[in-house]
Amino acid sequence: MSYVDEVLAQVAAKNAHEPEFIQAVTEVLESLRMVIEKNEDTYRRNALLERLTTPERCILFRVPWVDDKGQVQVNNGYRVQFNSAIGPYKGGLRLHPSVNLSVIKFLGFEQTFKNSLTGLPIGGGKGGSDFDPKGKSDREVMAFCQSFMTELYKYIGADTDVPAGDIGVGAREIGYLFGQYKRIRSVYEGVLTGKGLSYGGSLARTQATGYGLLYLTDELLRCNGRSLKGMTVAVSGAGNVATYAIEKAWQLGAKPVTCSDSSGWVYDPDGIDVATLIDVKQVRRARLTEYVSARPNAVYHQGKGVWSTKCDVALPCATQNELVLDDAEMLAANGCIAVVEGANMPTTLDATKFLQTHGVLFCPGKAANAGGVATSALEMSQNSQRLSWTFDEVDAKLKTIMVNIFHNLDDAAREYGMEGNYVAGANIAGFKKVADAMNAQGIV
Ligand code: NDP
Repeated sequence: MSYVDEVLAQVAAKNAHEPEFIQAVTEVLESLRMVIEKNEDTYRRNALLERLTTPERCILFRVPWVDDKGQVQVNNGYRVQFNSAIGPYKGGLRLHPSVNLSVIKFLGFEQTFKNSLTGLPIGGGKGGSDFDPKGKSDREVMAFCQSFMTELYKYIGADTDVPAGDIGVGAREIGYLFGQYKRIRSVYEGVLTGKGLSYGGSLARTQATGYGLLYLTDELLRCNGRSLKGMTVAVSGAGNVATYAIEKAWQLGAKPVTCSDSSGWVYDPDGIDVATLIDVKQVRRARLTEYVSARPNAVYHQGKGVWSTKCDVALPCATQNELVLDDAEMLAANGCIAVVEGANMPTTLDATKFLQTHGVLFCPGKAANAGGVATSALEMSQNSQRLSWTFDEVDAKLKTIMVNIFHNLDDAAREYGMEGNYVAGANIAGFKKVADAMNAQGIV
């Protein structure tokens, strides 16, 4: 049996109840076969793949807090410190009822490759809780965040592990988490990114993931003889990534026509209005039905279905496994030429294969959404230097990083004879640097 197959079988057996983690490991190792085979004996002797697929540390903890009725609630807290070969652990915190160890391990594993692809010195980690911020008062969210940090602070630090936002964790939550860390540790340090501008945040961090996604999409199309100008774009999600992807799509001359949340989706024939979207989701924290009230030509559909929209480019920006085989078939049939992932692993393995074999350009999230973590690393640099760069300075660095990421994965795919397979390219380019660093650091 090949070394890759051996390790895949072991991962499936050891993590039998963790489907998302197995899915992520399978996608990565399958596409690394050629690279691994070249050094199979050395890698096997050093158990490189076993070490790469086993987190350095998983921290699981209780998060008790008191709701507005005086009732004590208890949630599960997680921080998975996956790989620190190339820098301190770095990766977001997710607050969503679907969070469990499998989800956090898959995200931490993916983060390791994504962070490597940015070219910046950051390792991979991820954390979160099954707490649902939806419908909670600000006081309840603060009580939860303070309790969460009262345990998490023991394991993080500006040079150890630097969490950030993710689903359900935006400026409000980062503020409460930072305040509690500072109170307990009595140190003012860049222990979290995504901070507010008044206390060490970076300009353009809020926009970075969505903007970066569009910079990379633009480069992908340009290198394939196309341009975003005049294209119709379907976007899923209505959160941080989706909102700023929509904004940058407009700025680059495309027309984004959809967005979605966990209840339904919107088609706006005039193009999604960013100000209305921000007012509904960020200011009023309301459902997308409210968007349609403000935009009479827009149509609201209950449930799933955003990928039935006729579009040139599809940008899944909500959550994992939201674009399945049927969706991929509909997109291809409707003439979609590119699917670029804003979310982490939004496309299932069979849907990805279908797109790749039916002439649709496909770029995975670990490359396409890396602008968020790259700008978080820029925030860490500014914090260390006690400096603040302007919006334009950060945005220009972000654009350069995204264009470089695309060329790194494009080159890696070509080097191994898999031109246009950007999944393989991303995994190979991300893997090489981490593997080199792990080999250099001995058996740890
Ligand atoms: P937000 O919480 O801001 O937004 C998430 C959006 O997705 C919301 O519209 C939410 O709907 C929807 N959503 C969440 N879960 C589900 C679900 N199970 N089914 C359908 N819709 C769902 O998160 P972000 O925009 O920050 O993150 C979106 C994706 O991008 C995630 O995969 C995240 O890991 C990834 N990502 C985020 C980065 C960042 O910088 N924020 C960086 C890199 C990746 P509702 O409003 O109903 O909750």
